[in-house]
Amino acid sequence: MDPSLSTRLDATQTNAVSVLLPLPLLSPYDYLVPQDLLVEPGSYVEVPLGARQATGVVWGAATGNVNPEKLREISAVLDLPPMPSDLRQFVDWVSAYTLARLGTVLRMTMSVPKALSPLKPKMAYIVASAVDLKNESLPGGVRLTPARRQVLAALTDGAPRTGAELAKLSACSTAVIRKMADAGVLEKIAITKEKPVGRPDPELPGAMLSDVQSLVAARLSADVGSGYSVTLIDGVTGSGKTEVYFEAIATALRAHRQVIVLLPEIALTADWLGRFERRFGVHPVVWHSDLPMSERRRNWRAVLCGQARVVVGARSALMLPYRDLGLIVIDEEHDPSFKQDEGVIYNARDMAVVRGHIGGFPVILASATPSLETVDNVWRKRYRRLSLPERFAGAKLPEITAIDMRTETLDAHSWISPALARAVSETVAKGEQAMLFLNRRGYAPLTLCRACGHRLNCPNCTAWLVEHRLLDRLQCHHCGYSAPPPLNCPSCGAEGRFTACGPGVERLAEEARAKFPDLQFEIMSSDTVHKPADAIALVRRMEKQEIDVLIGTQIMAKGFHFPTLTLVGVIDADLGLAGGDLRAAERTYQLLHQVSGRAGRASRPGRVLLQTYQPEHPVMQALVAGERDGFVEAESSERKQHNMPPYGRLAAIIISGRNESAVDDAANALGRSAPRREGLTVLGPAPAPISVVRGRHRRRLLMRARKDLNIQDTLRRWVYAHKVTGGVRITVDIDPYNFM
Ligand code: ADP
Ligand code: ZN
Repeated sequence: MDPSLSTRLDATQTNAVSVLLPLPLLSPYDYLVPQDLLVEPGSYVEVPLGARQATGVVWGAATGNVNPEKLREISAVLDLPPMPSDLRQFVDWVSAYTLARLGTVLRMTMSVPKALSPLKPKMAYIVASAVDLKNESLPGGVRLTPARRQVLAALTDGAPRTGAELAKLSACSTAVIRKMADAGVLEKIAITKEKPVGRPDPELPGAMLSDVQSLVAARLSADVGSGYSVTLIDGVTGSGKTEVYFEAIATALRAHRQVIVLLPEIALTADWLGRFERRFGVHPVVWHSDLPMSERRRNWRAVLCGQARVVVGARSALMLPYRDLGLIVIDEEHDPSFKQDEGVIYNARDMAVVRGHIGGFPVILASATPSLETVDNVWRKRYRRLSLPERFAGAKLPEITAIDMRTETLDAHSWISPALARAVSETVAKGEQAMLFLNRRGYAPLTLCRACGHRLNCPNCTAWLVEHRLLDRLQCHHCGYSAPPPLNCPSCGAEGRFTACGPGVERLAEEARAKFPDLQFEIMSSDTVHKPADAIALVRRMEKQEIDVLIGTQIMAKGFHFPTLTLVGVIDADLGLAGGDLRAAERTYQLLHQVSGRAGRASRPGRVLLQTYQPEHPVMQALVAGERDGFVEAESSERKQHNMPPYGRLAAIIISGRNESAVDDAANALGRSAPRREGLTVLGPAPAPISVVRGRHRRRLLMRARKDLNIQDTLRRWVYAHKVTGGVRITVDIDPYNFM
């Protein structure tokens, strides 16, 4: 006997390993490895758990927490490549950083349980070998009727087809097919049919890069295969950031490494997918939550087995089991949608950098308005910055002007100033297009009873109901509650006395149509554009000039390239500044900059008009003067002064539950036991700004700490030492972005 084999067998006699299950568990459980099973760290295994079987991952050596005599055995090893070790390390890291349970983080990587087992084979038909088509001789003396001839014709290419497919192709009934099989004319075989994912070809010709683009592309390409690094492509909108990082992707493909591209608003990137296909010949593998199950299943397996070379997706694409990941690109790195606010609360941008560090490969961040976190990392020389300061092919950045709304006279229920209306007319008269931006869905954010002053509220949340006139519904944007508009006031009973307060995009469109009856308007918001196909259709209609003015929310701001769009009008530039959010100014700047970037992207120059009641606000001043860097520096010194991120650390603790007094008790107890140490303060508890969501009362505590303190340790000792009852839940949000 091979001596190494005998030692292995000896060892397996008492061999126990730890297995992590994708359940809300803090740590893995120990199991015995039966002699006939071969497991290694990362193996996907089936194990008994109570009375049922569960699938988990071999995490490492046994923890020794349970008496070996009481351990149960692993039941089976799944026929899959093991989970790569850098992903296991990453899961450990994310759990330690976010304080989410280890098993819950693992579950994010196993989000498609169906993908763990091979597809069930289907029965399909091929032509039996006894059939001699040339001589029209069929076995068993079967006659070659026209219907049978059709069936055979549909199989001449040799590909097996299911009964249903064959019936459709040959336009005859499945009974005909079954009889042919019975007579031995067709042979039945089992197939597992799955469309393979496409293989991107890095050798197809890319764009002819300009000198500065080539320089940036060359430096990014040189990083691939040279270990961990983080690079910010800091380039104005339309400077070719995408073209440039495509070259880094091509280099990674040549080096046989997998690539992730994270994009915000994945559903709307049809344009991006088209560009990818033109560059690499195939669509990339797509990953987001709206994908049909069959595609999720196939894509998950293709990632683990290494067939998926480039995956483009929303933040959860980061959690897939890549075998040989070699590059991550995060486009629009400043976008708040990379932060996940539920379940495991994490920021995909920051975690991508961690993943690059663990895996030893480069991470590329791209933005025209980088986040302060990223800029600070550039200043501290932890990230490198490569700049693309100009739009491609000499297109000019748009000219931005503020309209001082304090001096404009507007009619009641009117939001388009005379100055903006004039600009719209001029633009359309020149054969160009305009965009009116208002970051508010629906018709009106508030409905009020004129008889008693009652405001229509969500029954589950402390929030107003938003009227959606296109749908004839009132909706809560926090919990999804929806109801038809009532006839009578629920408070005083008055009939037909409701009045809409304030504008949403639908109401703005109503005003615009009344002002410009001859123009074509279209609303673009998440209510009108659901699927990639909707976005494609809209882009086509814009290109064909069937639309004069696009009216929409922030979904218009990202990625779209409308060559003849030359005017952007921002209806309420101050909208994002209200409320006490620490990033309100930064985000408003980024959003308005991005939406401005839609104007004048091709040969015709663009202009932007910002309607504001605060033209002297630093955000408006910076936008008008094109002083991005000055604004970022001012914002940075303000944050530094108050020890706010990225100069101090924040963690939010949210206590929620249906029973208000239980929530208060828990919040107060936490507040009383708050840690006291130098360099750390805890504020609260206070009711959350939206104090009830989905029927749950919410209180918040905010911990602010010096950057060098390990807040995770402190939080674990403080928050997790608390036993809570009465259905109260405590959620910790490290580096919070949402303060509602
Ligand atoms: P960004 O990502 O910086 O906004 P894009 O990569 O989307 O910029 O480029 C803006 C537009 O200019 C796109 O339509 C793109 O195809 C075009 N473009 C950029 N660079 C080149 C190039 N080198 N050759 C041809 N077209 C380019
Ligand atoms: Zn609600």
